[in-house]
Amino acid sequence: MEYLELVFDIPLDRRFSYKNDMLKPAALGCRVEADFRNRRLVGYVVGLGAQGPEGLPEAKIKSIRRRIDAQPVFSQESISLARWMAQTYFSSEGECLAGMIPGGRRETELPGSGLDEVLIDPQAHILSDEQEKALEGIFSAPGGHHYLYGITGSGKTEVFLQAASRTLAEGRAVIYLVPEIALTAQVVDAVKARFGAQAAIIHSALSPSQKLTEWNRILCGEATVVVGARSAVFAPVARLGLIIIDEEHEGSYKSGSSPRYHARQVAMRRCANSKARLIMGSATPSVEAWQLMDEGRIARHVLSRRLSGGALPELRVVPMAGVSGCLSKELISEIRAAKSAGRQSILFLNRRGFSYFFHCKSCAYELVCKHCSVSLTYHKERGRMVCHYCGFQAPPPTVCPSCGSLDVGYSGFGTEAIEEETARLFPDMKISRLDTDSTQKKGELDRILSDFRQGKIDILLGTQMVAKGLNFPGVRLVGVVMADTALHLPDFRAAERTFSLIVQVAGRAGRHFPDGRVIIQTFRPENPAVRMAAQGDLEGFYRAELAQRRMADFPPFTRLIRFVFRSRSLEDARAAARDFASRARAAVAQDVEILGPAECPIAKVAQNYRFQLIIRSQSFGPMHAALLSLHAAYQCPGTVYLEVDPDPVSLL
Ligand code: ADP
Ligand code: ZN
Ligand code: ZN
Repeated sequence: MEYLELVFDIPLDRRFSYKNDMLKPAALGCRVEADFRNRRLVGYVVGLGAQGPEGLPEAKIKSIRRRIDAQPVFSQESISLARWMAQTYFSSEGECLAGMIPGGRRETELPGSGLDEVLIDPQAHILSDEQEKALEGIFSAPGGHHYLYGITGSGKTEVFLQAASRTLAEGRAVIYLVPEIALTAQVVDAVKARFGAQAAIIHSALSPSQKLTEWNRILCGEATVVVGARSAVFAPVARLGLIIIDEEHEGSYKSGSSPRYHARQVAMRRCANSKARLIMGSATPSVEAWQLMDEGRIARHVLSRRLSGGALPELRVVPMAGVSGCLSKELISEIRAAKSAGRQSILFLNRRGFSYFFHCKSCAYELVCKHCSVSLTYHKERGRMVCHYCGFQAPPPTVCPSCGSLDVGYSGFGTEAIEEETARLFPDMKISRLDTDSTQKKGELDRILSDFRQGKIDILLGTQMVAKGLNFPGVRLVGVVMADTALHLPDFRAAERTFSLIVQVAGRAGRHFPDGRVIIQTFRPENPAVRMAAQGDLEGFYRAELAQRRMADFPPFTRLIRFVFRSRSLEDARAAARDFASRARAAVAQDVEILGPAECPIAKVAQNYRFQLIIRSQSFGPMHAALLSLHAAYQCPGTVYLEVDPDPVSLL
């Protein structure tokens, strides 16, 4: 008889004993099916023994229903990593393992195959002096953390690819992380062209069984270069030699559900265990990474020049006070100028929909979602008011629902409004919109990107999707339609996000010709994040932002752990948060600060009231240890759900 220790994808961090009375043994790292509290669940085998647990009568131990895998899907390293993650992220071993295996859970990523016929050059480039120096620096010592800090278009990808080749030549494997596969087709194609059958692409457009096939190719050592988004950091390569994190500053590297891990932190852990190298890269490093570079804990390698004939564009700030509509006359004339030069424009606005607020001018009523404390957005195309948090929809009102007045109006504009305005202003131009609404249909994202690359579209407008790593030779003009949309958010990263978005989207202009133009429209031209982004003063921005963070005791000078209590009952959520806060006060050391409980800035989402507690300290270890044992012993009331988020990226 064989005894198994199983874990399940449930928020309970415990191992459960089962027996295997099948003919064939189940190996460590295999999946099995087992009955658990009246449900049949997938269990992961994390322990094996010839004897059952002590003190538990044989008859009490349930048998598994069936074995799912003949061969293990998790290596010993994955199992140890899950153990570490469960603790670090207040999660469970089972949730961590489930999050590693592609298709283990439903992932929500952008639609689109990303398999675009991009022209890429399978041949390695001869490195520039700066690239050469960076690569030599990276390989001058075994292991270590490195950063390619290089302006957009400075050839970071080429250094990553050559670092990957050298690692393979050492007989070791490579994991190459990108923020979103669908928007990084160029990198994916370059990896496939260079490494052929040695490459595995973990991609959300693959079916679960295709994903498992890729996973198995990695496990058995056939694929030694793995490209993928966040969860590819778990790729079960043996002999890991290098992890690459492209666009390190991207928010998508942080998981939004349990385990709330950051791929950068998991990568550091795996690299330390395997004595592997870690190379991150971005034109706008996260403030945390910048501080680690200043402290010398990450080696900084600078790439300062564009390599394919481009130059950094000329940036101009246009104040929007007094401008009616979405586009200033400066932006309008630059769009015309780009078109007459036979070139293209990108317009960026971080807001979907048509307009943002519906309000009554008689009684000041504002239309908010029935289930959430956020305004409804008017989507003209669908003819609906839509909640971007819970999906609630309602017909657009024509009179004030509160006082019946007809004097009502909309304010604030989104991408649909810009589309309408540009179509009216430039009837001779071909315009396409790129956002999550316009790319719902399968294949639409690829079609738009490919048309734009081929010059069939004059103006591409959209949300963050147009700001990401896209490389379009024909783009002359980038217009940031409203730079300050995120600045008012009550979040200590608001300035950092605004800054990096402006610099990144500006970097789409002038990649191949030295005549790029960028227009930044804003109501707050004096805001430091907007001003320094426009001046290209990156060093100045990091210096000022770090000084602010130090003064306000925010990361990277402190570490935070956020506890969110949510419930259909406001009273229950508040009471649980208060109760937990007083226990936490008793459990932590003097130097740990407990902020709150307070209502979350978004106080209600999908009928759930939300209260948060932010716990802060200069040293993570003791704070984390105290809260982990408190959390393990804590019984959350049945009507309340508790979310724990170590090192949160958003406090909304
Ligand atoms: P980044 O990732 O830094 O934004 P890319 O990797 O997209 O920059 O590189 C920009 C362009 O420069 C690409 O078209 C690439 O093919 C080209 N390139 C990279 N390295 C070299 C080199 N050593 N010589 C010539 N062109 C290069
Ligand atoms: Zn009214
Ligand atoms: Zn809602």
